[in-house]
Parts: sequence; structure tokens; C-alpha cells
Amino acid sequence: MGFTVAIVGRPNVGKSTFFNRLLEQRKAIVEDTPGVTRDRQYGIAEWNGKTFNVIDTGGFVPHSEDVFEREIRKQVTIAVEEANAIVFMADAATGITDLDDAMADILRRSTKPVFLVVNKVDNNERMLEATEFYSLGFDQVYFVSSISGSGTGEILDAITDLMKEDDEAISEEEKGLPKFAIIGQPNVGKSSLLNALIGQERTIVSDIAGTTRDTIHTRYNLFQKDFVLIDTAGLRRKAKVHEDLEFYSVIRAIKALDEADVCMIVLDAEKGITAQDLNIFSLAARKGKGVVVLVNKWDLMEKETNTARDYEKTLKQKLAPFTDVPVLFISAKEKTRIFKAIEIALDVYENRQRKVATSKLNDVMLKAIEANHPPVVRGAPVRIKYVTQLPTVVPSFAFFCNFPEDIKTPYRNYLENQLRENFDFTGVPVRIFFRKK
Ligand code: GDP
Ligand code: GDP
Repeated sequence: MGFTVAIVGRPNVGKSTFFNRLLEQRKAIVEDTPGVTRDRQYGIAEWNGKTFNVIDTGGFVPHSEDVFEREIRKQVTIAVEEANAIVFMADAATGITDLDDAMADILRRSTKPVFLVVNKVDNNERMLEATEFYSLGFDQVYFVSSISGSGTGEILDAITDLMKEDDEAISEEEKGLPKFAIIGQPNVGKSSLLNALIGQERTIVSDIAGTTRDTIHTRYNLFQKDFVLIDTAGLRRKAKVHEDLEFYSVIRAIKALDEADVCMIVLDAEKGITAQDLNIFSLAARKGKGVVVLVNKWDLMEKETNTARDYEKTLKQKLAPFTDVPVLFISAKEKTRIFKAIEIALDVYENRQRKVATSKLNDVMLKAIEANHPPVVRGAPVRIKYVTQLPTVVPSFAFFCNFPEDIKTPYRNYLENQLRENFDFTGVPVRIFFRKK
């Protein structure tokens, strides 16, 4: 958790093909949040039981010729600052280009590990040609063919070898405290919200020093509850150097997300939810984090009787299928409902911790199953005999039955809805597994 690898390289070297390769392994194993789409910019890779974030920086470069080189250079600089390791991808079919050279110059100065990955090494002839890439001066050079997948195992080994066993390094002080991350696009009002909360001096207990991380953790006490707010470092310091770059805010958001239990996604009411917010939202769901959506700058909206209700309805259509999420209308400027937002985040934290007693769970769910049986697939009825909650961080339920493969998404969704109706899991992704009894 928390380890981030950025793939950089000029256009068409095969970054997104390689990116999809890295993600594939996990896609096959953990397809537990149906309907949540993967986007092509970032995802979670899994190898030898370790998981890490992968970011394809190519997904952030605007496709207009004149900005290309400048944008790519910026992207590389940020990747070096923000990621834990960098995959620098080049293309054996074209050989070394000027842009490769320019990027290599920046990357050689990196204090972070850089893996030079030479792609499109599809055959032996290419392998011989590809040796020219040693001249770029990197210690770690890998030759792969992303199309066939050859060589990707070695690079995955090298990446996971870098990861420490416990990459999270939670301080003693933070153990057991709810951790909330404030996340959102530039200018939606994240710092204003934070300042409005911090303005209440007496609520702050302490700033928790983080040696290696670049998010700021602040411990609060409100409503007799202790919690930690995580903000991305650029936020409070307002060092707006890279702030307007989408790539920068995304990579920061991913880090904050990894450290949090509940993620507060802040929107600008007038702008609505953006594609990038939805990506973060689905990433949060995939990572099993709690979510609260805060619609900020509500003071600027022209309001009629049903404005909030209609707004929420439209918003939830975009969040589907995960719609059991609290939505709050706030104004950081006028300090309306900002403490309510914290209260709701605490509720979501509680929901994520919820453990339902097995007897109660079976009482309720077996009745729901009795009222609506899974459809028959292969002639024989599918019988669910027993349900249990697994002892995991993210609420997970195992349904034991005779033909687990016969239960399809609509019925899975029915069970999830029943769980949500009967037990409060608002704001929390719920995992459902079917196991052979
Ligand atoms: P990106 O712009 O760096 O993300 O590059 P893409 O992943 O979109 O790939 C650019 C082109 O190279 C596509 O036509 C890919 O099919 C092709 N490509 C990617 N990997 C390989 C490979 O290993 N071998 C060959 N021959 N072609 C590849
Ligand atoms: P950040 O980039 O997400 O940290 O956003 P800022 O906190 O810097 O806010 C961006 C702009 O929006 C600033 O000019 C704020 O004064 C303004 N702003 C923030 N919250 C509100 C709000 O609730 N209402 C109004 N009207 N303006 C806000």
C-alpha cells in the first residue's frame, strides 16, 4: 500500500500497453466491485502478493504538438518528485530519439529508482538492436514486449523488491485513529475548508510529523472524537508551483487516499463532478475506502425548493453503481455544515468498522434469499445455505452455496442492497464472495 510507480516516456513507445499488462494480473483475481470501471491513467497492480499504484503519465499529456515536449518534461519532473519509482519507457523499434535523450537527462539526476524499460523487443533481432539503450546510462535496463508480455515478470520482480514489508509506517500516535483525506480538483476549496476547520484552534491536538511522506497529518478533537485529517502538502503551504497540473493533483490524491480510512471528495457546486473526480471515486471504492462527497461553494448557487435534492439525484446517477454515499452541501467560505461534514465522515468510519453478528446476519439475509431466490442457471436450484462476515478491514461477506459460479451480478447486487438496507454501510464499499459449501 502506498507505493507508487509512474510510467514516463514519449508518445507511442507503448506505455499504455505496458500499463494494461501490469494491471491485468489483478484484474483477473479481484473483480469484486462490479460496474466500477478502470480508467487508463492509473490503477492497482499486484505481483507476488504485493500491490502498488501504477500511473501512466501518457494519459495526462494533451495531444497538441507544440505543447508536447514541454508537457512531457513537466510530467517527468513531477514523476521524479512524487513517485516512489519510475519506469522510463523507450521503443526498440525506433531507437533512441532526441526526446528520449532529453528525458534521460532529467531522469539520470533522479534520486528515486529509475527502470529503463525498452519496449517492443518482440524478437532476437530487436534484442540486438536494443542494446544501444545501454548508452543512456541507466543501471537497471529491462527489455520487454508489452504486446506478448515477455519480460514483464522481471520488471515486476524488480519493482516489488523495492517495496518494504510495511510501507505505511503509521506512527504510534495515529494507530486506531480515524484518518480522513481531503481530496479534489484545484480550486474547489480544499484549503479553504481545511482553514475553516483549523480556524477552530482549540480543536487541533497536534501536527503529526511525517518523516518520509509528503502529506500533512493533523490530529483533531471534535465531538469528543479524535481523528486525523490528511491533506496533501501543497495544499496548506499553498506552494502552487504544480498545483494546476492534473497529473500532480491526481498523484497527490492517490497518496492521500492510501493513507486514509475515509476520503472526503470536495467538488465545486457550480462545476459539478468531473471525470477525474469520478476516477478518484472509483479508485477509492476499489481500495475499499469510505467516501463522503462534499459539494462546496453552495453559497454561490441559486436555490429553489428542490435544488439540493435534484443536484444529489444527478450526482448519484454519475456515481452509480455505488450510490449509497453521503452527499453534503457545504460552504467553506461561510462555514456552513463544515463540522457536519466531519460528523458524517466519522459515521462512515464507524460503518466501515461494522461487524454484523453471524446469527443476525443469517436471520436477515436468509429471509431475503427466501423471498427472492437466485435464478436457476443449469437446471439445479442454487442454494445459499449460510452467510458470514469475513474478518477483513473492508466489510466483506461470504455466501456459502452449492454452485458459486452460477450467481451473476444482478443477484449479487440484490444481496448487496439487502445488506445495505438492513445494516448501515453508507459510504462504504462492500465486498461479496460466493464460496462452495
Ligand atoms: P503510448 O502512447 O506510449 O501509451 O503507447 P501505446 O501503448 O498506445 O502503444 C503505441 C503503439 O505501439 C500501439 O500501436 C501498440 O500496439 C504498439 N505496441 C505497444 N507495445 C508493443 C510491443 O511490445 N511490440 C510491438 N510490436 N508493438 C507494441
Ligand atoms: P483549493 O485549490 O481546492 O485548495 O481551493 P481554495 O481553498 O484555494 O479555494 C479556491 C477559491 O475558491 C478561493 O478563491 C476561495 O476563496 C474560493 N472558495 C473556497 N470555498 C468557497 C466557498 O465555499 N464559497 C465561495 N463562494 N468561494 C469559495
